[in-house]
Amino acid sequence: MGDGANAPAACIFCEIVAHRSPAYVLYEDEATVAFLDLFPFTRGHLLVVPKRHGARLSDLPAADGGALFRTLAQLCRRVERLAPDYNVALNAGAAAGQIVFHVHFHVIPRYGEANPFRAASRTRLDDDDARSLVAELGRA
Ligand code: AMP
Ligand code: ZN
Repeated sequence: MGDGANAPAACIFCEIVAHRSPAYVLYEDEATVAFLDLFPFTRGHLLVVPKRHGARLSDLPAADGGALFRTLAQLCRRVERLAPDYNVALNAGAAAGQIVFHVHFHVIPRYGEANPFRAASRTRLDDDDARSLVAELGRA
């Protein structure tokens, strides 16, 4: 699991999974763990992590992905104790802002502060590009 052969020597989330580094753990089962983010965007910002090390979702076996999603949904329900509204985010790769290369979902309760996902201006999907994207992404 967190000690797996594919885990880098100093993965902080593997250390938390193995109970070698401290964390404010909210939930744990055989495949997943959830704990408070150490540098929260908002009060209650938490992370949901598979115990198996992988940098991104596509590195995980399907069963771990299923377990991860179940835990994510459960923690989302708990976050609603703090705020009815929240963001779920997953940063995959440095260009997406990933700094810990052990896959994790962020659950970020929102209390009315500016929503970062609304910051950038957006233009309507281009139909030609949409057809290219369906050709590229719409097949297995
Ligand atoms: P990301 O940019 O998606 O890789 O986010 C990694 C997150 O992990 C950041 O929000 C950090 O604040 C958080 N983080 C880093 N180290 C720890 C730690 N030891 N315990 C809890 N959260 C951490
Ligand atoms: Zn790891």
